[in-house]
Amino acid sequence: MMGAHARIGIDLGGTKISGIALGPDSKVLAQARVDAPKGNYSETIDSVCGLVMSLEERASVEASVGIGIPGSVSPATGNIQNANSTWLNTQPFKQDLETSLKRQVRLANDANCFALSEAMDGAGQGAASVFGVILGTGCGGGLVVNGRIIDGPRGIGGEWGHNPLPWPEANETPGPQCWCGKKGCMETWVSGPAMAADHKRVFSETLSAHDIARNAGEGCAKVNKTLESHASRLARGLACVINIFDPERVVLGGGLSNMSHLYEQLPGLIAPYIFSDNTAIDILSPVHGAESGVRGAAWLWDIAESENSEWK
Ligand SMILES: [Zn+2]
Repeated sequence: MMGAHARIGIDLGGTKISGIALGPDSKVLAQARVDAPKGNYSETIDSVCGLVMSLEERASVEASVGIGIPGSVSPATGNIQNANSTWLNTQPFKQDLETSLKRQVRLANDANCFALSEAMDGAGQGAASVFGVILGTGCGGGLVVNGRIIDGPRGIGGEWGHNPLPWPEANETPGPQCWCGKKGCMETWVSGPAMAADHKRVFSETLSAHDIARNAGEGCAKVNKTLESHASRLARGLACVINIFDPERVVLGGGLSNMSHLYEQLPGLIAPYIFSDNTAIDILSPVHGAESGVRGAAWLWDIAESENSEWK
């Protein structure tokens, strides 16, 4: 499914705002990146609008605009919720952008944009159902079926990061404190900072997630044990989602998706927990990597309706 018009996708990150302009044939016409104004709502609006204008000027097109945000639009109020860029929360961001840009815009959670990008023309292309997983500073996810993001009346479809670790072992309960107020959420076990915290808790040794990942397979017993625990927990968490959503493919994204051992080990670790005689599961690395956010945001105008429209 290729769009017949030019599309701009914006990825609103905590430190950078990235943008891409895609032509009708999905060719990249222009790309740009600006610093994200920290803690300032009206400057954030101005930066996004400035980026859209500059991309349109450079690509010589008038485009539809889709925006990936680190939170979601509350279907109840139309305002932003759950954003770790906290100055966006409770703001009518969509409405304010539409006023400034003088056109309709579509917003979606950044993990949903990732899942959509990979489902449309990435590692999930051709599959009817895709679970896109973000493993970075946090743990998010998005569900796509037949090219459409699945979301619901709460705007949290695919958000598995604040469910508890399933099938816990004795030393895994109640689990680490999560910022959301609960203990033992998936995010407190499988994100990058969570893996580093686990290493420190078990071995009293301070290594960043990047250091741990870089030393995978290098023969350090402590690092290997931390990676083994991490893969086991990730496998159990994914099995729980697979037993509910039964996706054709799972695509990993975010910083930890660079750890190649995950693609070799996860299918075997997940299999014992899958409630079916078919326990095979494809766990794939992303095709578009860091560009998935902007690409997925651009794709928001290629799906028939915005994800929440039937609920409004
Ligand atoms: Zn939590």
